[in-house]
Amino acid sequence: MHNIIIIGTGFGGISAAIKLNQRGIHDFIMLERRSFFGGTWMQNRYPGAAVDVPSPLYSVEGEPYPWTRLFAKRNELEAYTAHLVEKHQLNEKIKLNAEVKQAKWMDDHWQLTLKDGQVLQARTVINATGPLSTPVVPEFEGKDDFEGQSFHCNDWPDNLDLQDKKVAIIGSGASAIQIIPAIVEKVKKLHVFQRTPHWVIPRFDPKFPKWIQKLLSVKWLYGLIKRAIYVHYEVRVLAFKYSKFLLTVVGQGPANRLLKKQVPDEAFRKTLTPDFVIGCKRILISNTYFPALQKDNVSFHDKSSGIKRITKTGIVTSKDESLDVDVIVYATGYDAADSLISYEVRGRHNIALADQWSEYPRAYLGTSVPNFPNFFVVTGPNTGIGHTSAIYVIESQMRYIMQCVEKLQTPGVNSIEPTEYAEEQYTQMIHKEMERTVWHYGGCQSWYQNKSGKVIAMFPGFTFVFRHKCRNFKQDAHLIS
Ligand SMILES: Cc1cc2nc3c(=O)[nH]c(=O)nc-3n(C[C@H](O)[C@H](O)[C@H](O)COP(=O)(O)OP(=O)(O)OC[C@H]3O[C@@H](n4cnc5c(N)ncnc54)[C@H](O)[C@@H]3O)c2cc1C
Repeated sequence: MHNIIIIGTGFGGISAAIKLNQRGIHDFIMLERRSFFGGTWMQNRYPGAAVDVPSPLYSVEGEPYPWTRLFAKRNELEAYTAHLVEKHQLNEKIKLNAEVKQAKWMDDHWQLTLKDGQVLQARTVINATGPLSTPVVPEFEGKDDFEGQSFHCNDWPDNLDLQDKKVAIIGSGASAIQIIPAIVEKVKKLHVFQRTPHWVIPRFDPKFPKWIQKLLSVKWLYGLIKRAIYVHYEVRVLAFKYSKFLLTVVGQGPANRLLKKQVPDEAFRKTLTPDFVIGCKRILISNTYFPALQKDNVSFHDKSSGIKRITKTGIVTSKDESLDVDVIVYATGYDAADSLISYEVRGRHNIALADQWSEYPRAYLGTSVPNFPNFFVVTGPNTGIGHTSAIYVIESQMRYIMQCVEKLQTPGVNSIEPTEYAEEQYTQMIHKEMERTVWHYGGCQSWYQNKSGKVIAMFPGFTFVFRHKCRNFKQDAHLIS
């Protein structure tokens, strides 16, 4: 029996492991379904992959790193992840190729069943399986008939050579706008399929000279820089939640100016202009996306010439145009709202988490769930952010999770879970606050919402407020036995 099992080895799992080590709790293991550890940045190997939050902010607390530019590219994030794993000796804790298929509460512990049939037991489970970890590909007619190469950008094949290939990329979101400029010069032909345009703002991405990199290695200075960037980005919540005027002037202004500057053709500009308020969907940052779309070898297909069906050799558009393609890239996103946890979870009285969440996912502090004792969901319901680092939120959750874990180390304490009342009150507060945000009123459909239409992915407010709530453990909000 393990004391704690962490499921997932991305920044969520790694942060949990570091915090446990810091508390002297070493009897834990980490399960990873893939053949390598590291989550998002080890998995996403598509060309152009990079973070869209400044790297000093998108990093683990107390773990400075000499980033070579403001927005690190994937390979640096991969190196950073590997550095953390090595520094904290997590390799010995990680079990690879260990996909959890079921977690079942057995009255005083969790029983985890893996894909290969192995059964593991733990008193506590920290689920860190990632909000954007399981890709989604829509059911296009004829999708399986295609005889060329096709894949979700999350599963970019190693050594894929796109030189002189005819490529179709489906999607125009955060991943697509990084991939398109990175491959456009290489391919013979690029078909871009846009369902919805996104607001794009300029990317200010300076390279750091050696002396700045040296400064970034100094822990206290790194902390200061991180805080300064944090404040700079946090101010955006004022616009997202409290001021449509600010959103339009400070957000939509630069986006419109970028579009006007980079896309001279008025009709094309119209096609690329969203019909929702900026911020309703994730704001994208790029200086190279619009110029790439206007290259001679690019054909742009908006909703009016979308995908009718996929054939053996390519794509037929809704205008009955047949396009010959060698490769189809699905940059079609993730299901972060409905499939928050990809395996079966059964709590007290055999209650299925999927049933408890049948209307929409909900959790106390986005982390713990009534009837599911000793079970913590990292990046759970309503913990997402559109303006700052996901790692900041993960580390806020850790403040709550670690307090619970510490209580569970006390002799005589076997289980901890939030009361139904506390969870209900918290969830009501979240959705009431949400009504004031652009994610609610902004006029878009996004992966922030689940099938009920409720915004499930986002925290409706300042992240320091969320952190404060997580730090402030409320005994009377919990059943401790
Ligand atoms: C392309 C991309 C770009 C992003 N860019 C940013 C950004 O710029 N800024 C930002 O703040 N956030 C960004 N994100 C969000 C990102 O999800 C978070 O920043 C962060 O990496 C989440 O870490 P995590 O550990 O929760 O999840 P992940 O990094 O996704 O790790 C989850 C791990 O759990 C494993 N796992 C899943 N299910 C199981 C199972 N059943 N059994 C065992 N293991 C399992 C997965 O294989 C994976 O390794 C981005 C996400 C993507 C996909």
